Amino acid sequence: MYNCVICRYHEIATKGNNRNMFEKCLVENIRRQLKRAEVFCKVLRVRGRVWLEPENGGVFENSELEKIIKILPDVFGLQSFSPAVLLPVDMDEIKKCVSDVLPGKFQKHCTDGHKPGFRIRARRSNKRFPLTSKDIEIELITYAAELLGENAFTIDLDHAELTLGCEIRDEFALLYFDIIEGAGGLPVGSNPRVMTLLSGGIDSPVAAWLIMKRGSATDFITFHSSPYTPPETVDKVRGIAEKLNTFQRNGRLYSVNLAPMQKAIRDFCNERMRTVLYRRAMLRIAGILAERNDCRALVTGDALGQVASQTVINMDTINRASDLLVLRPLVGADKLETIRIAERIGTMEQSKVQVPDSCTVFAPANPSTSVPAALAELEEAKIADYGLLLEKIASEAVLEA
Ligand code: ATP
Ligand code: MG
Repeated sequence: MYNCVICRYHEIATKGNNRNMFEKCLVENIRRQLKRAEVFCKVLRVRGRVWLEPENGGVFENSELEKIIKILPDVFGLQSFSPAVLLPVDMDEIKKCVSDVLPGKFQKHCTDGHKPGFRIRARRSNKRFPLTSKDIEIELITYAAELLGENAFTIDLDHAELTLGCEIRDEFALLYFDIIEGAGGLPVGSNPRVMTLLSGGIDSPVAAWLIMKRGSATDFITFHSSPYTPPETVDKVRGIAEKLNTFQRNGRLYSVNLAPMQKAIRDFCNERMRTVLYRRAMLRIAGILAERNDCRALVTGDALGQVASQTVINMDTINRASDLLVLRPLVGADKLETIRIAERIGTMEQSKVQVPDSCTVFAPANPSTSVPAALAELEEAKIADYGLLLEKIASEAVLEA
């Protein structure tokens, strides 16, 4: 019965002069995601409204709608969407449509003589339409009672099981039942590209997703320590990057062998500072690859206080190794919140698989939670040709995907 899917956005609507760019990006992303899932339909944008229509007119098939309902919650920038009936702005047409769609929908809620709570929610942005929102609600609920019988439902304005939405816009009217939540945020690609330091853990995939949700597509860099870590360390991250790429277009994944730097740090530097020194090297190498790939910031999954390298002092010391902006979207997140997002976006399963991690190679039993930046610099100065080693390691980065 649905001949359109209406898309709603929130933050994009606040964008003033740039709104056009954000909307175009949103429409392109919806088209790309639908195409990837082999759903062929029209994605239309007219005067600040975005909606989907079947390719050849008519109504959507159920199988098509099911796919659309699965895909759209992964498109950043959408606040919500509804399968809907698109109608002329005319009360008689609207009533006719109500009489077509309401009885069937009701039947699903009325098993065993149950009387469902029901309400109409009307919105009128077309101020030339003669009825107010309240008038529309009263007229349609009266009509529904005539259609279904007085005793078919109870009016429940707060917790209705069934809500019929009616919107009167300038060019068209809409009727719909379900409002499905979207991911929110901004369309990916509407902000400059960034580079995410992706470990096989739970946090960094979520950090990458949150940054995509704010509009930046991301490339990925992962560090391994071959031969001290097995090939599975990178295989795992490759799988996670593939999953994350379902939310954006073609994020590249680089794998980098940090072992030569870790050996130098082991041989020449204070043992308790190793992890901080590894992280500083990671940021520097990631910075080199970010610049080569036109990425304007780095992203990590750091959460304040999570481990020894994420105390305020150590984060500051690590941060100072990077000239590029470092985005840490999880800095204030609770681990359980992060896990919930990882489950929702589908990276949790992969992150849970245990494989050796490059950070644990030569890791000290008792890492320092407070390494001042000046001390870290003194330790690094003990490694001859530190800068050249960084460049060499970066130049040997392997493009995995
Ligand atoms: P995660 O934080 O993803 O759960 P983790 O707990 O192993 O993984 P931490 O020790 O918390 O990682 O490291 C903090 C951040 O540093 C990670 O979120 C990630 O951005 C970066 N990082 C750590 N190890 C690596 C690695 N081997 N490759 C790429 N980035 C890494
Ligand atoms: Mg972590």
